[in-house]
Amino acid sequence: MSGLDLIVIGGGSGGLATAQRAAEYGAKVALIESHRLGGTCVNVGCVPKKVMWYAADLAEGGHDAPEYGFAHSCGAHDWGKLKGKRDAYIQRLNANYASNLDRRGVTLVRGRAAFADRNSVTVNATRLTAPHIVIATGGRALLPPLPGAERGITSDGFFELTERPRRVAVVGSGYIALELAGIFAALGSSVALVIRTGAVLRQFDAMLGESLLKILGAEGVAVHTQAVPDALAGEAGDLTLRLRDGRGLGPFDCVLWAIGRASAVADLNLASAAVACDAEGFIETDKYQTTSTAGIYAIGDVTGRAQLTPVAIAAGRRLADRLFGGRGDRHLDYQNIPTVVFGHPPIGTVGLTEAAARERYGDADVTVFKSSFVPMYHALTERKPRCEMKLVTVGPQQRVVGVHIIGTGADEMMQGFAVAVRMGATKADLDDTVAIHPTSAEELVTMR
Ligand SMILES: Cc1cc2nc3c(=O)[nH]c(=O)nc-3n(C[C@H](O)[C@H](O)[C@H](O)COP(=O)(O)OP(=O)(O)OC[C@H]3O[C@@H](n4cnc5c(N)ncnc54)[C@H](O)[C@@H]3O)c2cc1C
Repeated sequence: MSGLDLIVIGGGSGGLATAQRAAEYGAKVALIESHRLGGTCVNVGCVPKKVMWYAADLAEGGHDAPEYGFAHSCGAHDWGKLKGKRDAYIQRLNANYASNLDRRGVTLVRGRAAFADRNSVTVNATRLTAPHIVIATGGRALLPPLPGAERGITSDGFFELTERPRRVAVVGSGYIALELAGIFAALGSSVALVIRTGAVLRQFDAMLGESLLKILGAEGVAVHTQAVPDALAGEAGDLTLRLRDGRGLGPFDCVLWAIGRASAVADLNLASAAVACDAEGFIETDKYQTTSTAGIYAIGDVTGRAQLTPVAIAAGRRLADRLFGGRGDRHLDYQNIPTVVFGHPPIGTVGLTEAAARERYGDADVTVFKSSFVPMYHALTERKPRCEMKLVTVGPQQRVVGVHIIGTGADEMMQGFAVAVRMGATKADLDDTVAIHPTSAEELVTMR
């Protein structure tokens, strides 16, 4: 293939976005993908996870239904049936991505790419050359280096389950661990959450993790803190998780490791293009996503920064705008990226945690506003998960630098508040905004 302007390695969120935006500017683009189009997000991440979250949400609603006058709660749940529908939906998405590339004239090359030199990659023994190459190969879930670890599954295995395991251990304290533990629990599994320290979601404001742990505990999840795994013993259906302090947890039908993700760079032959990685194996880039080699860029999870689909997409589109759209300084600002943890209840967060704001601006300059209440929906239910909110403000103007929410609806509340934070809203701006009643969100504009 000759005359290419751009080669994109990886057809996930970031790669697809970059290739399509570049092609819209008239660039001649080849995109190389070794597995299914859509990458992690579409196949084993955000999308199938959100389908499962909806099911878990329905289960919780069903549980509450009799308290709202319904004769019955939800009946038994058929995990296999849901998986079938979910997989069919994802296959439709995979096909849509292929036709979107086709429509924009992007050449899709199926195969595994590796660098030949600074301007070329090989795939299926063919050499492709272009002045610009984007690495968007994402990441992969880690298994711990422990005896028997392979008896457990990762988030990839979660999406292969054809039935709900009755007794599950989820090992990890990040958002993937918390989300999958919440889904299992809401759909009826007995869940043990195994965490190395005493806290979860440690990169977020402390209020969020503390509150979520309380809620999970109240809803029957067994939370094991200071629990460092040492080995996984036994057979599927009868697994025991041995801890370093001698404790043995189990038996479990399934143990899910959610202990982190590594960059997918192993077979890229980065050395032949002199592309450097940091100590953790993520590709280093400058603010324009350029790697240590001019003409080679990296975006998305493979860079280890804010590993989220919209971040990979935004970085990729801005890169294409800069390279092919004549927008010379276009790049992604990695500050104030909003995010949601699809827990039960969900968490929405943007900006600085209270601790980070105090460290950056000093205690005297930081004013924090908090609210804690039982959402009106739960006035009638036996379950009483609280909604907790925090605004972190700085300076005499009380500019809002952080908004942190856990509670029903937090997922859909956060996007608009992220706009306000990005625009430099102050506490007075929030106070001057008329509330929407009755909602949980109105608390954010009525805090004192
Ligand atoms: C369980 C889970 C839940 C998640 N939930 C959310 C969520 O709710 N919201 C959110 O924003 N983010 C979520 N994420 C994160 C999100 O999925 C990633 O941030 C996003 O997919 C990153 O996109 P990417 O383009 O960098 O990489 P990926 O989407 O991983 O795409 C990389 C692609 O490159 C291909 N590839 C790799 N090496 C090669 C090679 N040598 N040659 C050819 N192709 C190659 C891979 O097959 C893959 O298709 C979740 C992730 C997981 C695991």
